[in-house]
Amino acid sequence: MKKKACKSCKFLYAGEECPNCKSSQFVLNWKGRFYVLDPVKSDIAKKVGIKQAGEYAIKVV
Ligand SMILES: [Zn+2]
Repeated sequence: MKKKACKSCKFLYAGEECPNCKSSQFVLNWKGRFYVLDPVKSDIAKKVGIKQAGEYAIKVV
């Protein structure tokens, strides 16, 4: 099953709500993904405002 992408932070998850920002608004129509191992060291994470390690969608529709 395709993972849900959080509408506000783009975190990819499979549960009921986003474990990152606790939002329950998600989209299934997302494109591309990237993995943040260490948000403190990642430039992308800083740019997007990611604080938790995990998988993120690049683009949500
Ligand atoms: Zn979220």
